[in-house]
Amino acid sequence: LLQLYGPLNFLGSVYSAIRTAMVDLEHMFGLMEEDIEVADPANPFPIEAHLQGHQAAEVAFEDVRFGYSPEREILHGVSFTARPGMKVAIVGSTGAGKSTISRLLFRFYDTWSGTVLVDGHDVRSYRQADLRAAIGVVPQDTVLFNDTIGYNIAYGRLGATPAEVEQAARLAQIHDFIASLPDGYDTQVGERGLKLSGGEKQRVAIARTILKDPRVLVLDEATSALDTHTEQEIQAALKTVSAQRTTLVIAHRLSTIVDADEILVMGQGRVLERGTHEALLADGGAYAGMWAAQSAETITPAPAGEKADVQ
Ligand code: ADP
Repeated sequence: LLQLYGPLNFLGSVYSAIRTAMVDLEHMFGLMEEDIEVADPANPFPIEAHLQGHQAAEVAFEDVRFGYSPEREILHGVSFTARPGMKVAIVGSTGAGKSTISRLLFRFYDTWSGTVLVDGHDVRSYRQADLRAAIGVVPQDTVLFNDTIGYNIAYGRLGATPAEVEQAARLAQIHDFIASLPDGYDTQVGERGLKLSGGEKQRVAIARTILKDPRVLVLDEATSALDTHTEQEIQAALKTVSAQRTTLVIAHRLSTIVDADEILVMGQGRVLERGTHEALLADGGAYAGMWAAQSAETITPAPAGEKADVQ
């Protein structure tokens, strides 16, 4: 029986990693009720899912065309490459196609033409579960289980030791908050327990992702503005988790992506501009306009009810 323990424990943690990925992804994309039509290949190509001991993955889109229904093309030939460890930010108005790009990366849909590649291989060559284990997501709004806050973090990799959970919480800048609660990591959260703020929930998501240790990270930045102090803590935590990992950020606040290796400015399914923050400002195009508009908003707060957003 003891000999079985190792493999069973391993299978358990693989299963939990896949389930974690699915809960956040399904929530992020509202996929619960959708038919998923993509199929696994007969001879899947193996993929290293976790960063530890491995290089960050390369992510590339090559002339990708895609639509949700045959009569309406949404992406009209999108290309970009995020080399291992690079941070690529995607900005643009609502409906520009930003989330569609991340859905294709996770292969929730297949492209009409063109290719989505991870580590130089078409995403269709991997088993879907393996591909999704390699990609971590910090969604806008994290699902919390009616369980302890410790469990909610450990969900990133069930089987993680309490010391590993605490270490992830420290890196995600939420340990001090948890330690200040009377029951600490055993505090019940969710509908029947302590309600966490948006910023706290995001840090739980970051801690989960640190435990999951994926080679690619997708950050779906919250549209709602957080207070400055919380925002700084979140940004510091995100820096920890995105360091060395290939990171795709769907950004709403341009201030968070000034350090991106490449910024893609999307409009109506096309990449309109691309470059670093400095280069795009120097070009004086759409990005420079958005930056000027957001800077003005920061100085003169927007009227109540309006969000500091590029949309
Ligand atoms: P963004 O993330 O930039 O706001 P999306 O990628 O979500 O944009 O959407 C791009 C376009 O695709 C929009 O016109 C949107 O209405 C459409 N779209 C998004 N999801 C679906 C879907 N599940 N079915 C049909 N159309 C969709």
